[in-house]
Amino acid sequence: MVKRYSSLEIDPELFKTLGHRLTDQIAGFLSTIRTRPVTRGESPEEIRKILGNSSLPEKGRDVSTLLDDAAQLMLEHSLLNGHPGFFGYITSSAAPIGALSEFLTAAVNPNVALFHLAPIATEIEAQTVRWIAELIGYPTECGGLLVSGGNMANFVCFLAARKASADWDIRSLGLRREPLRIYTSKETHTWIEKAADMFGLGTQAIRWIATDKNLRMDAGDLEEQISKDSKAGDQPFLVIGTAGTTGTGAIDPIREISRICKDNKLWLHVDGAYGALAASLPDADEDLRSLELADSVAVDPHKWLYAPLEAGCALVRRPEFLTDAFSFHPPYYRLQDDGEKPPLNYFEYGPQNSRGFRALKVWMSLLSAGREGLVGMISDDIALAEELYRAVARHSELQAFTRGLSIATFRYVPSEIRPGPDNDGLLNELNERTLARIQKEGRVFLSNAVIDGKFLLRACIVNFRTTSREIAELPEIVAGAGRMVFEEMRPAPVS
Ligand SMILES: *Cc1c(COP(=O)(O)O)cnc(C)c1O
Repeated sequence: MVKRYSSLEIDPELFKTLGHRLTDQIAGFLSTIRTRPVTRGESPEEIRKILGNSSLPEKGRDVSTLLDDAAQLMLEHSLLNGHPGFFGYITSSAAPIGALSEFLTAAVNPNVALFHLAPIATEIEAQTVRWIAELIGYPTECGGLLVSGGNMANFVCFLAARKASADWDIRSLGLRREPLRIYTSKETHTWIEKAADMFGLGTQAIRWIATDKNLRMDAGDLEEQISKDSKAGDQPFLVIGTAGTTGTGAIDPIREISRICKDNKLWLHVDGAYGALAASLPDADEDLRSLELADSVAVDPHKWLYAPLEAGCALVRRPEFLTDAFSFHPPYYRLQDDGEKPPLNYFEYGPQNSRGFRALKVWMSLLSAGREGLVGMISDDIALAEELYRAVARHSELQAFTRGLSIATFRYVPSEIRPGPDNDGLLNELNERTLARIQKEGRVFLSNAVIDGKFLLRACIVNFRTTSREIAELPEIVAGAGRMVFEEMRPAPVS
């Protein structure tokens, strides 16, 4: 007889007490988030010192104080991307309903690999996928699944494209001699380099297509490259357009690219990790409203659906494209197949086997905001970026560059320096140091873009807590930091 002592079990009464206390702490955190610094800018050394470097304790400790300590660490030493002044990268503030959904998900812990392991979760995920497709104007009978983020969603689509495009059994024979070619622009996110490398094509398989002055793919150059490669005996197979580039929010000419793909029988993948959800806006750009032309689309619910990390979504035109690329039937899964329509087993749709229930938090956001609520938040984010762009353009020491979707780029230029090629080196250093200073100060958080060799400051607003007030304050915060850095950079007067 094993005398069982489960040191991880928590008595239900204690669970209630701890849960209520944690909920109170989180509610307190959310209600004061506006008055906190975005970040304390602590160094790795400082953080490690707080954690200490003892080895794993032999004995377990009391969960009550443990949870308080963990809450204190998280709430006091994190960078707060839910802060209204957080404009870095493309990381959204997380909907609080998402935190509650994750709590529920973790407590029930469905394994969304097989329908019979996760009946309700499987169907909620399928409904979530259909609703995301509906929102972005993609056919709802598509295949799709939730993954960890944009990179994974793009990888899944890439592999579906690779399988569908090969006229030999690529899954058992692997790659052959004729090089498979990929077409995309330099503005594409680095996932494509990872994919080309990881999936055996090599990064040289990528043909970098030129961009126009608005950083959109040049369709003429695309057509030329494809024809050149075909003549040389290479095998073009995939064109990647981006709907909302990471740097500046540019939208590639999807309709024109789609025509070229049709003419050449190539798979069109659209990376809409950031921008695809803006296709739901009534005044969306025509290319953004043409996602239905793509064979596959990647969308990130942890960006413009404000889901807490992680949540990406891969969509392909037909579900078979996923099963063709990912399904293997191991003997240890006795798959039930008694009905008309076999149940949905998500392990056959993507690379993962055991799968967490990422869909619940997304499903809850979709239902709690509704289409109208989501469209409202996304259009406000874009309107605030436009407001920022105008405010920056009006400021005498700031130079505005681009505004695409909810991204604005600009740089600090001291009154006595004239912007021009001669001064780019100086301005690059000045702006790089200004960015570091702003990030360290912790009042707002910006990231950067590089356009034509110019180092620019970049604000991306995917944040339903941001208001016109934060936007109005931003130009002076940037200029103030810029002035201080410029003072420091000035050579000491010769005495
Ligand atoms: C954010 C982003 C990605 C990467 O997505 P992750 O969720 O960070 O993995 C890929 N492509 C584009 C266009 C993006 O904006």
